[in-house]
Amino acid sequence: MKCFRLFLPLAMVSVALSFTSELPAAEKESSSLWSAGFAKAVITPEEPQFLSGYGGRNKPVEGKVSDLFARAIALRSPGGKTVVMVSTDLIGIPVKMAQVVCDAVEKQHGLTRADIMLTCSHTHCGPALDDELSYMMNIPDAEWDKIRKYQLVLNEKLIRVISDAIADLQPSVLETGIGKAEFAVNRRPPIGVGPIDHEVPVLRITSPDGKQIRGIVFGYACHCTVMSFYQWWGDYAGEASQFLEERHPGATALFFAGCGADQNPLPRRKLELGVKYGRMLAAGVQEVFEGKMTPVGPELSTAFRRVDLEFQKVPTSEELQADLKSTSAYTVRRANRLLDRLKQEGSLSATYPYPVQVWKLGTELTWVALGGEVVVDYSLRLKNELGQGKTWVTGYANDVMCYIPSERVLEEGGYEGASSMIPYQQPSSWKSGLEARIVDTVQALVKETAKPQAE
Ligand SMILES: [Zn+2]
Repeated sequence: MKCFRLFLPLAMVSVALSFTSELPAAEKESSSLWSAGFAKAVITPEEPQFLSGYGGRNKPVEGKVSDLFARAIALRSPGGKTVVMVSTDLIGIPVKMAQVVCDAVEKQHGLTRADIMLTCSHTHCGPALDDELSYMMNIPDAEWDKIRKYQLVLNEKLIRVISDAIADLQPSVLETGIGKAEFAVNRRPPIGVGPIDHEVPVLRITSPDGKQIRGIVFGYACHCTVMSFYQWWGDYAGEASQFLEERHPGATALFFAGCGADQNPLPRRKLELGVKYGRMLAAGVQEVFEGKMTPVGPELSTAFRRVDLEFQKVPTSEELQADLKSTSAYTVRRANRLLDRLKQEGSLSATYPYPVQVWKLGTELTWVALGGEVVVDYSLRLKNELGQGKTWVTGYANDVMCYIPSERVLEEGGYEGASSMIPYQQPSSWKSGLEARIVDTVQALVKETAKPQAE
């Protein structure tokens, strides 16, 4: 791969030197264009297995409202740098899955870790994965076998969908805009009072003649928790993608979850509400199309870093033994899980390597991707600091290890600030200071992406 990449620019230089003056106008134009490629794969498990998202679920799925999908977009800048973003109808991105997929894509396509963004919708009607969150449920061994088998199939499908998107690269025009959808409600008590982020970031990818919408990337900061039933379903996000793909035949519509960890689609628990929210979100995207969108310039740079976030406290073996007597099934399951890890690994880490990623597209768009279930304070703060209207913040990206409260939410406690660490099998709440560490890392990566990068 390296050899190929070294020789390619030389070949391009000689072609450019000898033929530039004779290139037809259309071809000259196309060399200043972005390229984009798309692919889509069904990732619905073939056999009934456990769903993820709710710890009380105690049996496998019973049917499906819709298939679950992985969608990939590959983007190549006019300068020749390639990145891929994957959107999945999954509860999260297990860190082991991200590792396997990124290793394969780096090896097969020469991309770096910073060039690959793995996102999910956080649908609560998707499959349980081979991750720590699945330990919140009481899953029989035979069902665990199915989950692990599915995980291997899923890993391969994600690698394939990325390769297919890269193989589909074609000249394209990129434009961005920000829309609105108003169904997310801050769910922390008192419900409906706390901050919200109703923005709908949109990237539209069209053919150079402007006739064909080839792809749509859009996001929203709200849990996909309309239903808690035993059916496969992409929730409002899956519905929105489906509406957009039906409205624009030939287009691939990729959803990503924003900083919606403390946001719920309310009211909920009726399938038709999920369909309605999907329509509202798709209408938010459509409105952006009807207005004036901003063309994305030719620059593309990426950065990725893991920053160690500290836990408040790492429990001792004695403390975990005491937790085994708890009346809470979740606390008992976590104690068992941590005791297992203690036995296997010798100790429990006092920190977690938290992934932060920044993509700069043109001078118009700074796209921040944060791991975990990120509360809305982060997107509001980062948009303020990095520029309203030109900053996107994706949550649930690259690794979903637990909730990521802001300093405010950490101090307030409650589910997102404290108790959600138990179903995620984490040793304790985060130590104060995590918001500053995360935001400082984002700022450092933004500086890094401001410098031009070789492809
Ligand atoms: Zn969640």
